[in-house]
Amino acid sequence: MPLYEYYCEPCNGIFETIRQMREASEPVPCPECNRDAPRIMSSFAAFTFRDGYPRRLPDKGTYWHMGKEVKKRAKRMSWYDHPELTPPKAKPRPSKHDTTVQTERAAARGKDLRYRDRWGVDERGFRTVKAKKVKPAKKTITP
Ligand SMILES: [Zn+2]
Repeated sequence: MPLYEYYCEPCNGIFETIRQMREASEPVPCPECNRDAPRIMSSFAAFTFRDGYPRRLPDKGTYWHMGKEVKKRAKRMSWYDHPELTPPKAKPRPSKHDTTVQTERAAARGKDLRYRDRWGVDERGFRTVKAKKVKPAKKTITP
């Protein structure tokens, strides 16, 4: 079902509601004053637009979208897609390919680190403490 805009004359404001297409031209009760508000037609836009945006309802910096008060207008004309009313989408699970690539990379890194540790070279190619030969302390035998 598409989203339509309606204009309430007593409030001088606009609100958005989702309706079936055949009911779209019928008036909808205003969320503020409950009086019937007619649908906005494209020719109407000429005087409802102010500062590039239609007047919101009520005029306190908020808009009405699907009977709920929101701070922004819906940008896309789909009711489920309002930035304030729809919870953010969960991240998609990583694919099997991605996880195998990750485990392979981790395994390769681990292998490399073990190799470097064995030869006393760190990841940047510097010698680690382990590689430095420690001179055996001279044994002094005291008679
Ligand atoms: Zn009203």
